[in-house]
Amino acid sequence: MSFKDLQLNKPLLRAVAEAGYDNPTLVQEQTIPLVLEGKDVIASAQTGTGKTAAFALPILQLLFDKQDAPKKGKKIKALIVSPTRELAIQIEDNFKTYSKHTNLRTTVIFGGASIEPQIDVLKKGVDILIATPGRLLDLHKQDLINLDYVKTLVLDEADLMLDMGFIDDVKKIERLCPQEKQILLFSATMPYKVEQLANTILKTPERVEV
Ligand code: AMP
Repeated sequence: MSFKDLQLNKPLLRAVAEAGYDNPTLVQEQTIPLVLEGKDVIASAQTGTGKTAAFALPILQLLFDKQDAPKKGKKIKALIVSPTRELAIQIEDNFKTYSKHTNLRTTVIFGGASIEPQIDVLKKGVDILIATPGRLLDLHKQDLINLDYVKTLVLDEADLMLDMGFIDDVKKIERLCPQEKQILLFSATMPYKVEQLANTILKTPERVEV
């Protein structure tokens, strides 16, 4: 299978080719069509399998098709929640690589770093926000983040997120987004507490296991 077979548009195919990817990985082959169909997905995939592109590429494709008019000001339409700052930065890097031939804007926010520069970027408007839970809730409380337009919520490394004690934050973040949305949950392992979270917030999810 090729990336073209996955119905990705030209700007994305170009970026993927420039990144040096020849063919989609297994998790990408299985996940991308489901995300494009608007399904909720629960995927067990380790780091290194290409899982980031498995959600980033179809999210960019969905947003590319429905871009805001330039004048309207950008709203956050995809929110990716990540347990650690390192992972969040890596995800942002991936989104930037794949979206470089589009007008879609991405930024990342995380704790333990100065908040002002993050606020400045948010104020300019972004389509895609990658965030660690604490900083996200902090900025939301200060009314600096509007999640009312989120269409797709990604919970990455859900097992790690729960191990780090973020369960209540994750649930809170889910409730701050509109009820009508797509949720993608990625986890290296599927312990009972991850299944339980998925059962609580996902709607008839499709399963991907690689
Ligand atoms: P991830 O599992 O998302 O952390 O990705 C692991 C690494 O694989 C990253 O460095 C990606 O840039 C790379 N990668 C992702 N998809 C592909 C692909 N289809 N072909 C080759 N490399 C890829």
